[in-house]
Amino acid sequence: MKISGTCRFCGIVSGQYQYAGVDEPFASNDGFVAVASIGALVEGWSLIIPKAHQLSMRNNYSNSVFADFLSSVLHRFFNKYGPLIAFEHGANKEGSITGCGTDHAHLHLVPFGESLFPDLQSSGLQWVQCHASEIASRSGTKEYLFYTELNAKKVWQDSVGYLHVLEHPLSQFFRRLIAERRGGVEAADYRHFPHLDTSMQTRIVLAGSVA
Ligand SMILES: [Zn+2]
Ligand SMILES: [Zn+2]
Repeated sequence: MKISGTCRFCGIVSGQYQYAGVDEPFASNDGFVAVASIGALVEGWSLIIPKAHQLSMRNNYSNSVFADFLSSVLHRFFNKYGPLIAFEHGANKEGSITGCGTDHAHLHLVPFGESLFPDLQSSGLQWVQCHASEIASRSGTKEYLFYTELNAKKVWQDSVGYLHVLEHPLSQFFRRLIAERRGGVEAADYRHFPHLDTSMQTRIVLAGSVA
C-alpha cells in the first residue's frame, strides 16, 4: 500500500490537488470521490475513485456504498451529457502498465453516444459478457479490462458488460480506441496533452449540477 503523498489519487482524497480547480472532487460519499479526468479527450470524462488505496475496483462492484454513489453521479451525468461508456483497466500490482499512470483503482465514465463494442470485437482480445459484480470471481488475481454502456434507462445494477482477463499487462487500451474514434491517436498521451481546459469545464458542469 502506498502512503498519501506518493499516490496522486490518495492526494486527491486527502485534499491535495495537483491541478487546482480541476482535480478537486465534484462529488463524494463515505467510500468514494468523483473527479474530472485529467487528459480528457471528451468533455464530461470523469473518474470514480475509492478513498482507500487499492489496485482495482473488483471488490467494490457488489458493494452498496459504491452502487449508491455511482447512481447519484450518473444522475448528474445523464442530465448534462447523456449516455456514457464506463470502463476499467484493473491492475494487480503496483507499477503495472495496465494502470494509466496511477496504481490507484478507478472507474472511467465517458459521455459517448456510440458503442465501442465493435472495436472490442475487432481488437483480437476475447471478451465475455458479465456483470461487474462477477469480475472478482472471474478474474481472480489476474488483471482485466471491463467495459459497459449506461444510459438513463439502463442502471448499473442491470447492466451487463464485457470482460477480458489479461494474461499480460496492456497499456491505454480504451483510451486508444476513444482517441481513434475522435480522430487522433497522437492525443492519447495525456502527459503531453493534459487537456486541462476540457477537464476544468467538466468539473464546472458536474459540480454545478443538482444531485
Ligand atoms: Zn492511492
Ligand atoms: Zn485509468
